[in-house]
Amino acid sequence: MSKAGAPVSIEDVTNEVLAYYPDADVPLLKRAHDFAEKVHGDQKRHSGEPYMVHPRAVAKILAELRLDLPSIITALLHDTVEDTHATQADIEREFGPVIANLVDGVTKLSKITFKTSEEKQAENFRKMIIAMAKDIRVILVKLADRTHNMRTLEHLLPYKQKAIAQETLDIYAPIANRLGISSIKTELEDLCLRYLHPDIYYKLAQKVAKSKREREKYIEEVTGMMIEKLREYDLHGSDMVSGRPKHFYSIYKKMERRNIDFEQVHDVIAFRIILDNITECYKALGVIHATYKPVPGRFKDYIAIPKANKYQSLHTTVIGPHGERIEIQIRTHEMHQVAENGIAAHWKYKEGKLGTDAKENVEWVSRLLEWHKDLKDPTEFLETVKIDLFAEDVYVFTPRGDVKEFPYGSTPLDFAYGVHTDVGNTCVGAKVNGKIVPLKHKLKSGDTVEILTSPTQTPSKDWIKIVKTSKAKAKIRLYVKSQERARAMQLGKEMLEKEFRTYGQNLGKHQKTEAFAEYLKRRGAKTLDDLAIYVGYGRLAPATVAQNTLPADVLAQKQEPEAPKEPSIIKKIFESATRKAESKNAITVENLDDILIRFGRCCGPIPGDPIIGFVTRGRGVTVHTTACPKSLDSENERKVDVKWNVQVPVRRHVKIRVLSHDMPGILANMSQAISGCGVNISQANIRTTKDRKAISMFEVEVANTEQLGRVLSALEAKKGVINVERVRA
Ligand code: MN
Repeated sequence: MSKAGAPVSIEDVTNEVLAYYPDADVPLLKRAHDFAEKVHGDQKRHSGEPYMVHPRAVAKILAELRLDLPSIITALLHDTVEDTHATQADIEREFGPVIANLVDGVTKLSKITFKTSEEKQAENFRKMIIAMAKDIRVILVKLADRTHNMRTLEHLLPYKQKAIAQETLDIYAPIANRLGISSIKTELEDLCLRYLHPDIYYKLAQKVAKSKREREKYIEEVTGMMIEKLREYDLHGSDMVSGRPKHFYSIYKKMERRNIDFEQVHDVIAFRIILDNITECYKALGVIHATYKPVPGRFKDYIAIPKANKYQSLHTTVIGPHGERIEIQIRTHEMHQVAENGIAAHWKYKEGKLGTDAKENVEWVSRLLEWHKDLKDPTEFLETVKIDLFAEDVYVFTPRGDVKEFPYGSTPLDFAYGVHTDVGNTCVGAKVNGKIVPLKHKLKSGDTVEILTSPTQTPSKDWIKIVKTSKAKAKIRLYVKSQERARAMQLGKEMLEKEFRTYGQNLGKHQKTEAFAEYLKRRGAKTLDDLAIYVGYGRLAPATVAQNTLPADVLAQKQEPEAPKEPSIIKKIFESATRKAESKNAITVENLDDILIRFGRCCGPIPGDPIIGFVTRGRGVTVHTTACPKSLDSENERKVDVKWNVQVPVRRHVKIRVLSHDMPGILANMSQAISGCGVNISQANIRTTKDRKAISMFEVEVANTEQLGRVLSALEAKKGVINVERVRA
């Protein structure tokens, strides 16, 4: 069955093309050939022949499928970027972007190899090839490439022969089948059988060869009888009926299916009736069934209901003149073309040029992606036709070579959660094709992805925006929620501790009392932790807990809340801010009231600054600006969202440092500028430097960043002022 024969010349290719495309740009074709020949230089095939034998053979296979010129030229150039010093840019310069993209597509496909033979993996791999190809012609060139490599497989070492044959059988023959190109599919399958099961292949070949004469006599007899009968009913046509041995792989599958030895295989011949139109096909079927007894359950009408790959024919099995089973296919000439060449048969001539019918192409490919569905309802797949076929999924490799499918736009985080929740939760980044990429990197089909993890990593809320898969989203939400719970518990405990301290009570001791246990039960809480969560989420006031669990005499001894212990200077600077009533209202902590709020000494936030809160054990929440190094350092678990409460006016102390020339009256000038903005100065001092400059420090009370901004501008505008800045300790 091998079609390896005399080496193909470039004239063989051009003649084949000119036969169906008389206006083809032959000089361009020759130029592509000469370019490839030059860059491949004295490279050799494993057979020892000059390398160009291969690209020419691939081009010839595509010309036999009557493909367009870009496909043929791509065939000639398909190994140049991969195997020679020629670059993508060279191809583009010489032959334009269309050819360059096609060659690039084939080169990319050549770089990936399929390792496992698990069916699910094979299916994903096929999908990946199609998704990566982007242009269906890339797949057709790849199929032709593989066909010629299979034809010349004998020159490789046996273990390589087996690996390539297995990959061909798992991946490329099914793709050819999906594209409806049975000429390539059957050739690939037979070649695979030859290398994967040589014993069976050669026995079948022998059997078919041995009975050649008998078989020819039989074919002649049966076709003669059929033609005679068909003519009686006014059906005509030269070569109307033909018979041929079935391809070996289909016989082998039949042996496997029926669990029989090849000695028991009798119906190795299939008959085909080709007619002018559909009416004649059904008429011929009637004639055949009237003449030979049909085998029940073997009739299939693929004309009325075509296969997913557009194959159309009537199939039937009848009992022949010697009591043997005969398989017959009945179809029109057009249907025959489609059956042999599949998608390639649909390449259309347009305005003297070969081109594809875009809509038809889309339809084809969409069906091709429907791997699972063998057609039952012809309207079914019309619904699945979508324009943006390739934008839906990406297929990527694990480091082990498994193929995984993800929605378009997926990131390493999706991949990590696809492996395992723990891998996702500790993911810090990934290596894609060996290069480190950030978490939000978008994966592309064909990428090899290796996840990097760190035991100190934890998921953040922002990850939900990065991931695409619902699985990853759900896992991140789950984690964030459990963290919020933990945070609420910690906050709640602190609030309770503080409340109990105002009665001179220790919560740790108090929780062991009977009254407290009773109260827990009443609230439906098992432990103090459960109760603290209620408090932390703001569903239960700490005061209510105290009221319900402390004896009356203790309740009567309520003290004023303890003032936070602050170093005196700091206390002075932040006096107004730490006053309980004000701090409580100026900041909202995730809708919780009555939390002790403190401001970071380091950054001294004022209203208008972006801020973040940190839960401090036993000391409430400390607020820092988001730019403060403290907030970058702190652990995520302690972070709480805080907001400025704009309804509550506050005055915050801010330090301003002014560098100016040392000149008389400058301090008075600057003080004027500040008070001119309606801002109080609570402290001011000035010192001079040796180089006759002055450094003034002001402490002012401002309401927000806007007012502070006005103060800074007013200072900058003063004569003699060099630089003004807000000071953060
Ligand atoms: Mn090749």
